[in-house]
Parts: sequence; C-alpha cells; structure tokens
Amino acid sequence: MADSVRRKLKILFAASEAVPFAKTGGLGDVAGSLPRALKHAGAKVAVIMPKYSTIPAEFQDQMKHVADFYVPLSWRSVYCGIEKLTYRGLDFYFVDNEAYFKRDGLYGYFDDGERFAFFSKAICEAIVKVPELQCDVLHCNDWQTAMAPVFIREFYNQIPACQNVKTIFTVHNVKFQGQFSDNVLNDVLGLADVPAARDQLYCAPQAINYMKGALLYSDMITTVSPSYANELQMPFYGEGLDGIFRRRAGQLRGILNGIDTTEWNPKTDPLIAQNYSADDLEGKAEDKRAIQEEMGLAQDPTRPLVAMVGRLTKQKGLDLVRYSMNAIMARGVQVMVLGTGDKDYEDSFKYFDWKYGNQMSAKIAFDGKLAHRMYAGADLFLMPSEFEPCGLSQMISMRYGTLPVVRETGGLQDSVQAYNQFTGEGTGFRFANMNADEMASCLLNACEVFWTNQEAWHQLQVQAMNEDFSWRRAANEYMDIYHSLHPEVIRYNKRRDI
Ligand code: ADP
Repeated sequence: MADSVRRKLKILFAASEAVPFAKTGGLGDVAGSLPRALKHAGAKVAVIMPKYSTIPAEFQDQMKHVADFYVPLSWRSVYCGIEKLTYRGLDFYFVDNEAYFKRDGLYGYFDDGERFAFFSKAICEAIVKVPELQCDVLHCNDWQTAMAPVFIREFYNQIPACQNVKTIFTVHNVKFQGQFSDNVLNDVLGLADVPAARDQLYCAPQAINYMKGALLYSDMITTVSPSYANELQMPFYGEGLDGIFRRRAGQLRGILNGIDTTEWNPKTDPLIAQNYSADDLEGKAEDKRAIQEEMGLAQDPTRPLVAMVGRLTKQKGLDLVRYSMNAIMARGVQVMVLGTGDKDYEDSFKYFDWKYGNQMSAKIAFDGKLAHRMYAGADLFLMPSEFEPCGLSQMISMRYGTLPVVRETGGLQDSVQAYNQFTGEGTGFRFANMNADEMASCLLNACEVFWTNQEAWHQLQVQAMNEDFSWRRAANEYMDIYHSLHPEVIRYNKRRDI
C-alpha cells in the first residue's frame, strides 16, 4: 500500500438539484447543505449539477465558463460546457447543454433517460478534462446520477484521472429508480456490447434500471437513515430492489440527514410572531394564538393544536388521518393542514375544513413562510407516514418544541424518541402499525399529557429542542465512509474531536 499522507480528500458531489439553484424535493436540500458541512469537516468539495434554464438569472449571470468538450454518448458526440459559481464559499459546477436542460421543469420529459445518461457521462468526462474536478471520491445521488459509477468502471477505468476514484451512491427515495426501455442500452448508454453491464442493468425483460446499475457498481451505498437502510432490504419497502440491497448489505449504511439549523431556529426566526428558546418557551404561546387567528381556529390555549405540513400523498399516511378525523375532532383537538398533492386528499381536507369550522383548517398551497408559523405555533406535529426515508418535518417541529406524533418507520423512527411516562424521557410520540385507531390513540394519549401533565410536556419540549439535528453529525459520518475508501489518506481535520 502507498505511504499514508495527511491531506484533504477531494469529493465531487453530483446531484440533479441543489438549493438555492434548483429544488423539487429533499434531494435539493441535502445537496445544498451537506457539501458545505463536508467542507467544514475537512474535505475539499465541489458540487456538480445540470445548468437548468430555470436557475434564477441572478445566479446564471455570475457563472464563469471554465471548460467545454464533447461527451461520447453511444453514437453521439454531445456538446458540454462547464460553468462555475462559488456560492457562500462552496464551488458549484454546472453542466451546460441547452438541448437537454433548457426546459420548463427539471424532470418528466420523454428523453429523461438520455438527458441524465448525458449528465452522468459528462461528470466522468469532466473528471478527466477539468483539473479542478479531479477527485478521490465521486458521491452520486439518486437515479439521475446513477450511471456515473457504471461508466467510471466500464469506460474510464484505464484513464489515470479515474483509476483511483471511489464511488458512493446515496438513495434518497427508492420509489424513483430511472427505468427506461432497453433501447437506451445501445442507443444512449453504449453498453449493449458490454455483457456484464448489460446483464446487471436489466430489471425486467425489456427494461433498464439506472439505480440498479449504481447499486451494483458503486463502492459504497448509503441512504438517508439507518432504519430505511434496513427497510430497503425488505420486499415491502425495497420496490423490487430489496434483493440487491440484501446482497450488498455489507456496503450499505444509513446516515440520518440534518436540517438547516440557521433557517429553522425559533430563537432568531424572523418569520414567527414571537421568538423563544428551550430556556424560555414563553413566546410560543403567542405563536400559537397568532396561528390560530391566522388559520381561523378558535383562539383557545387549552386546546391541543396539531399541525401537518407536507405533500398530500399516500406515502404520508393520510388515509389514517382521514379515517380518524371524526374521533380526533370529537375530543376537541384542533388540526391545521398545509400541503398540496393528490386531489383526492386535497378535497378530503377541504371538506374537513368546511365541516369542522373553527376546529379544523386546511390550506391547499405551498407556502414556506406559513410553514414556519405553523411549526412554531402548533403543540403537536402529525406524521403517520407509510414509509419515510428520512423526513425533515419531524426534525423541524422538534426544533420548535412542537412534539411529533410519528409512525415507527425510516427516519421517523431514528429521529423521534418515544415518550416514556415513567422516566419522562422522549422527544415525541410513536406508534407502530399502519392502523388508524392506533394512530388516533397515540395522538389522543399525547393530548392527554398536554391536558393533564404540563410539567412532563414542558420537559419533552426542552428535550426535543435540545436534540442535535445539524448537518455536522451527518458530515462526520460521511467523512468516515470516504476515508474507509481511501485508507492511505489520513483525516485532515476530525471535527468530532473539536
Ligand atoms: P418529503 O421530502 O418526502 O416531501 P420531508 O419531510 O423530508 O418530506 O420534507 C418536506 C419539506 O418540505 C419540509 O421542510 C416541509 O416543511 C416542506 N413542505 C412540504 N410541503 C409544504 C407546503 N405545502 N408548504 C410549505 N412547505 C412545505
């Protein structure tokens, strides 16, 4: 083995979206926050993503052209520009090709298989052709970058710039795998004559699965919570890939995401009626009164106020909420919902809003500022998800002293400690099964604590608010993995010791 050296590991973080440039979901938040935390943890980090025409002009205007070359994509040779922007101290590189990325949205086009195969190939070419993008570890995320680990191994293995590159692939949601007709194998990927790749990419007789490729070709696989890493190995959660997750269990790790603790901080949050902290929770009462008023709910401090903020989809366990709404309302509990999603759920919540007057309120909208006021003003946050790879909302609510009521799955299980009435320990309330009565009983038990034991309630709030959901913890765990792939490099700056 080569002599050990102490230096910064070079990480190239590849994602199809990153805040503040482009976001459709949790991946955008992660790619906007984790790389910065990795930099603080002692890595040299660059982020690479597509240059979408929807990136705000203020950012596009600041980008500098650093390179251009042609990317081989089966029979094509496709133009690729590389532009750079340093944002809050972090280097972002943008892959430019207007034919692929000058569109109204990010995904959902007929040629997505080609667009993101191009992006993945462009990443490999950039490592070879742009010296500042040479790296020790290529960290790919979700199916849009999944072909890069395959290409690196099949096409770039003999090229010095890539020989020592280790790959890591993070699954943010296994529901989206990037499945395409097997025409792409020859027409786009250029892998039809590579038997090993061909066999591993097939997921059905005529279907190619990009995520499957990454799961089989990457040196390490991670996902966004330890429990989801276990669940992915089960048929119920694995979406057909559970066998592969089981096969690669030795290289699979779950690392809980963090949240942006600056944006989500009740002590300094400029968007809420009154600031407060774990040391002095007094201001939260005014936040509750203000949101009750804003949402058209009775301004009554004695009623537990339950919030839900999120996508209104089946994943979020909304069938349980629909089923038990009457029982919850019968106990005098208030419920407020903010979300958009499936029309069926939107209509149900509009109906409850109408039926229960000033006891139930639903806003069918996406409103980031209102979300802040709801997290601050509520007493409880309900999240009975069917599955939840990580989940941010429960962490945000804990930070605001709003106790989560969650189903024991994925990141919910890993981030919420169940209330123990004998010891007073806990940061929220949990139930196990996808059962509406069980959910309602868990929620009403929580309300019982609210009504009858203010001391225990206050202690739970303080414990929840004192949890560490910063990205620093997650970044340290990723650093451990990167270094396990490069044992010859001694860790430059171990933040854990600070
Ligand atoms: P997922 O990524 O599955 O949608 P998460 O809990 O991981 O769920 O993250 C959802 C994030 O989006 C949270 O920060 C939540 O506050 C925010 N969010 C979701 N829907 C809305 C909405 N309608 N208005 C404002 N914020 C929302």
